[in-house]
Amino acid sequence: MVTVDRPDAPAPKAPTDHLDLPFFGDAHRAMAHELVAWASTQQVNESDDRAACRDWVRRLGTAGWLRYCVPAAHGGALPALDSRALVILRETLAFYSPLADFAFAMQGLGSGAITLAGTPAQQAAYLPAVARGDKIAAFALSEPEAGSDVAGMRLQATPAPDGWRLNGDKTWISNGGLADFYVTFAKTDAQAGSRGISTFIVDADTPGLDSSAHIDVMAPHPLATLRFADAAVPYTALLGIQNAGFKLAMQTLDIFRASVAAAALGMARRALAEAVAHAKARQMFGQRLADFQLTQAKLGEMRALIDAAALLTYRAAWQRDCSASQGAGTPAYTAAAAAAKLTATENAQRVIDMAVQLFGGRGVRVGEVVELLYRNIRSLRIYEGASEVQLLILGKHALTH
Ligand SMILES: Cc1cc2nc3c(=O)[nH]c(=O)nc-3n(C[C@H](O)[C@H](O)[C@H](O)COP(=O)(O)OP(=O)(O)OC[C@H]3O[C@@H](n4cnc5c(N)ncnc54)[C@H](O)[C@@H]3O)c2cc1C
Repeated sequence: MVTVDRPDAPAPKAPTDHLDLPFFGDAHRAMAHELVAWASTQQVNESDDRAACRDWVRRLGTAGWLRYCVPAAHGGALPALDSRALVILRETLAFYSPLADFAFAMQGLGSGAITLAGTPAQQAAYLPAVARGDKIAAFALSEPEAGSDVAGMRLQATPAPDGWRLNGDKTWISNGGLADFYVTFAKTDAQAGSRGISTFIVDADTPGLDSSAHIDVMAPHPLATLRFADAAVPYTALLGIQNAGFKLAMQTLDIFRASVAAAALGMARRALAEAVAHAKARQMFGQRLADFQLTQAKLGEMRALIDAAALLTYRAAWQRDCSASQGAGTPAYTAAAAAAKLTATENAQRVIDMAVQLFGGRGVRVGEVVELLYRNIRSLRIYEGASEVQLLILGKHALTH
């Protein structure tokens, strides 16, 4: 995290008492303690988000944390992707640095479809390199005219004598211009709606792919628009079954949805820790800010919002791990993940806003931790299914179960 110069205030330690909950096993607990010890010592200059992202990927790869993004058969830490491990990793990393969390998450999201549907050759070519941090991954689904309405995408893939030609645009692509490869979703049957979408692994140096249009957003986050102009990929770039790309995209997002909630949770926990430290230190009207009942009520509200988010997040991750053998897309898990993502991101926004308020003028000073969190949390309510989309998933589930 880039923070203002406060040598008197080292980063607080990420809390670990919630690990005693029955959702987690001893292996999760051991991993979490090791991770807190590692993350609390990392110092990355984040003034340039692209350089910082590369730095984080390198560090996360060297330390072995990216091994949780792929299965053991391809250099991973565990036999299969484990949602509870992902949740612990993202919550802890986001507590220390939202950019570290982002760098970690994209290695998982960007390679998830290869884990789910790749041929042995595709898996061997990409997954071990992702786990080491040698290849940076990206997930290219959204388009200027197709965000929430994914099936409305227009990027066209047409057969050619030597493979496929891709034409059109993707936008809001995390790691755009930085990634070594883009798992890209394109229409292979323009008339078939969501049943006419296929997935391709597009290497960053593919002729006809331009990723130079970077997008600046309110918090550090490498983003770009991708332009495909007769971009030529071989037949071997097709990932999974032709015209089954929509399902593959949804399955991939399903695995990682609970982890978005965890990232929000980590940011909210950091905001509360900062608010408590500040309330104890700040003197006013002859006592500490923490001594006012109004402050105590505010901190209590923050704590309750965090606890609600945490329980829903851990439940969703636990439920996916339990039901992984039946497939992540079971209706009960989909609803649990939607409730977690909705609640954790919305609650984190409120908690962080309350922390900013408790800090007074310092709360909006550029570089303060709570100011950074305030800017970082906002996009989590939009990407990987906006809050309104999660509400619709929950409403549909309530009507049909
Ligand atoms: C920081 C950031 C990183 C991102 N990274 C990636 C990435 O790596 N890969 C990728 O493919 N995409 C990425 N995205 C894109 C993201 O997934 C989309 O922004 C998101 O899906 C919303 O799409 P949209 O922006 O087109 O908004 P729209 O689809 O136009 O939606 C606008 C708003 O409409 C509302 N809405 C949506 N559906 C409904 C409905 N049914 N009824 C009523 N209201 C509704 C919601 O409030 C929504 O926020 C990223 C976005 C951001 C901000």
